[in-house]
Amino acid sequence: MAELSPVLKQATPVLAERGEGVHIYDEDGRRFLDFTAGIGVTSTGHCHPKVVAAAQEQVGTLIHGQYTTVMHRPLLRLTERLGEVLPEGLDRLFYVNSGSEAVEAALRLARQATGRQNAIVFTGSFHGRTMGAASLTTSGTKIRAGIGPLMPGVVVSPFPHAYRLSMSEADAVAHALRELDYQLATTTSPQETAAVFIEPVLGEGGYVPVPDAFLQGLRERADQHGFLLVADEVQTGFGRTGTFWGHERSGITPDIVITAKGLASGFPISAIAAPAAVMEKAWPGSQGGTYGGNAVACAAALATLDVIEEEGLVANSAAQGERLRQGLEKVGSAHPEIGDVRGRGLMQASEFVTADGAPDGATAARAQQAAAKNGLLLLTCAPHGNVVRMIPPLVVNGEQVDSALELWAASVEEATS
Ligand code: PMP
Repeated sequence: MAELSPVLKQATPVLAERGEGVHIYDEDGRRFLDFTAGIGVTSTGHCHPKVVAAAQEQVGTLIHGQYTTVMHRPLLRLTERLGEVLPEGLDRLFYVNSGSEAVEAALRLARQATGRQNAIVFTGSFHGRTMGAASLTTSGTKIRAGIGPLMPGVVVSPFPHAYRLSMSEADAVAHALRELDYQLATTTSPQETAAVFIEPVLGEGGYVPVPDAFLQGLRERADQHGFLLVADEVQTGFGRTGTFWGHERSGITPDIVITAKGLASGFPISAIAAPAAVMEKAWPGSQGGTYGGNAVACAAALATLDVIEEEGLVANSAAQGERLRQGLEKVGSAHPEIGDVRGRGLMQASEFVTADGAPDGATAARAQQAAAKNGLLLLTCAPHGNVVRMIPPLVVNGEQVDSALELWAASVEEATS
């Protein structure tokens, strides 16, 4: 009898039968508060009626109109619609199916557009599992070990991680920018650097918001040296951080924006956006793929964008994120095992440390497992697995946030006593 491969590591023992809003139900009818949202994907909640209706209608009309063979309306409409929410000037788009594929595509595009080869990423970065994306990923050796050699030409510069560096945010930014300048002077010359890739909130690497001054410093250096600033908004886009885009609050405009996850409420689609001047340097036919811009996924994405707008989900993310953050801080201050609470919008996390401040993955895992047992689905992240993150659907309300916090407090108590 065939079985699933053990390469897929299971975070919870739940066998999901159905989902509705912020809840997942198992086959015995047990209800779980889903504060994972399928790793930040089901932004409009599970099976939002508008998304379901749009997808059902499209399924009966045209499922797959391969976009480099025949064009279809859902793709054209989605492109127009994304143009309304993307930063001004990033008005040329194409589509693939996942975050990793979109990262690969952005890397190809940056190389094509600049004629340069190297890429800079930051410690703790996560950009995906395919070979190019894994080469840009430093969130943990489990992604990289045993699959090399990875792509050459990737330079890793320190992330401004104030908590881990035991520095003020301003000092961490100054340190990281100095180190980046050092890399540009010693390891990857500006003339051979195609792009710098950054997640506006470091995701899998530990849920660490990027200080605005750091993004501004990257923008200055990209302008000065002529390389491209690529914002990997795969996890942070579509309201997740309390603004529509994670980079928005810094006031900068990236050269390339990569989106996926929250775009279509669970249907696989990702988009790469850049100005015409960048896209025109890539030759026709050099990007794309069989399933890119699937018509049903496009219809679901259009409905998702409608729901985000109609239900004010960006503002809800900011408001509920603040409520969640305050509650997490309260739990954190009652437990010395929680060294830091941080995040933006509905992307919040608690970092577990030992008495001497070392990463404590074992306690984080116990808390996450206790939460699942108590009815609250959560994920861990960070290189040592010692950060427990909360990424509920953006439709979550105050009562549900409070319920999750109660379950969290009880689960942390269980894990630490
Ligand atoms: N970039 C970021 C910032 C991500 O968080 C992820 C997924 N966690 C990816 C890329 C890869 O996306 P996918 O799993 O869809 O390939």
